[in-house]
Amino acid sequence: MTSPPVIVAATANPAKLSEIREILDGILEVLPRPPGLPDVSEDAPDLVGNARLKANAVAIATGRSALADDTGLEVAALGGAPGVRSARYAGDDATDAENVTLLLHRMRGVTDRSACFHTVVIVAGGSGEVISHGLCEGTIATEPRGGGGFGYDPVFVPAEGDGRTFAEMSAGEKHGMSHRGRALRGLLELVAGDGVERFDGR
Ligand code: IMP
Repeated sequence: MTSPPVIVAATANPAKLSEIREILDGILEVLPRPPGLPDVSEDAPDLVGNARLKANAVAIATGRSALADDTGLEVAALGGAPGVRSARYAGDDATDAENVTLLLHRMRGVTDRSACFHTVVIVAGGSGEVISHGLCEGTIATEPRGGGGFGYDPVFVPAEGDGRTFAEMSAGEKHGMSHRGRALRGLLELVAGDGVERFDGR
């Protein structure tokens, strides 16, 4: 059996890296971002721009194909916020808990609780880049529930589910319907055939 092609993850977020590895298990070997790489300032105006900044920086620094994921939570009643600012919603160094608390505060008394997670995945390497988008529609719960996942998972109830938040689901259940699962499966479809070899070693 041949070993899967290798790419480097651009993310420094261990929870996100675990999800990417679980979803791509057996298909691509995803190396962690090497320690010591300079931080990339995510100052592009949109998710595609930020994913591209991260993927290119890591591809250039490592000489290998790099995979970056940028995700935003778009809440209808907040005009699409926090969106591209989801990681820094409660401030530049905000924790997940602080972001969730601010979101629930801003949603107090709001009846339209619809929201959508949007993930952009970009692989950048010697032969250019491949972009894939994944969306997951849902609603914002009125209080956090569950101990799994990360980020806004304790308050996000996917529309395809049974009323549980992502944080109340197993990892496999989340990946089956999540924005990240969809974006990564879409990426694999885009590179099927002539595809995945392109990433090997570059
Ligand atoms: P970034 O893509 O790392 O910039 O993430 C943006 C923000 O969305 C961060 O606050 C993450 O914690 C959060 N986030 C990213 N992916 C997920 C997810 O799958 N579930 C819940 N929150 C997420």
